[in-house]
Amino acid sequence: MQLDVDYNSGIILANSVTQDPTDHHQLIPQIEQTINTIGPLPDEIAISADNGYFIKTNLQYLDNNELDGYIPNRKQAHETKKHFKTYKPFSKHNFTYNYEKNFYLCPNNEKLEYKKTYNYNNINMHQYYTNKCLNCPNQLECTGKNQIRIITDYGDVLSKRMALKMETEKGKIEFAKRKMTVEWPFGNIKENLKYTEYLTRGIKQTQVENNLISISHNIKRIHKLKQNKSGPNYQSNT
Ligand code: SF4
Repeated sequence: MQLDVDYNSGIILANSVTQDPTDHHQLIPQIEQTINTIGPLPDEIAISADNGYFIKTNLQYLDNNELDGYIPNRKQAHETKKHFKTYKPFSKHNFTYNYEKNFYLCPNNEKLEYKKTYNYNNINMHQYYTNKCLNCPNQLECTGKNQIRIITDYGDVLSKRMALKMETEKGKIEFAKRKMTVEWPFGNIKENLKYTEYLTRGIKQTQVENNLISISHNIKRIHKLKQNKSGPNYQSNT
């Protein structure tokens, strides 16, 4: 089940069922379904989605449509959960990427030049480093004794831009909001409305059922909002 949920109200804006085993290709239809339902998205809207949606097609779509998207890569999705509250001066997000000249500037103002591209699990990884690390006063803290700090990324500009955006405080806050936004409706549907499995079979029938489930959730949510009982402080999240 795919849900696009409004952060402020907790109302489901778009839903779909799919037989696709991955989430990769569900982001664009979800956003377009939302636009069909509520009209053009407000300028200030932020769209958060989890790592399953981190593919070039989605990043390109967000960029083409000037949408403020927040999608972590796999490593960030993992690390954000573990280190959200910890400030580390030598974290990768404190390395600034220069888009024009293709290098990273480290917190000690040294250039980590592009060195090579290698393939890891069918993904091209770009590697950057500098030998200046060997004489750096921060070497121990940044990378370890006698070590050189190596920065890797996926190479393409959109992925880099997104990865860096997700390392900012705002990126982390938006990603944290996503979890709270979508998990509450899933919990409400399963625990309160008692929908733990579809009663119908076939994609068309389960889509109808999914619509009814979403409507049930939304009616309940609207009723509570009218009573001024807020749920989680709910932006659009997938
Ligand atoms: S160890 Fe290398 S990358 Fe880290 S701060 Fe020093 S020069 Fe920069």
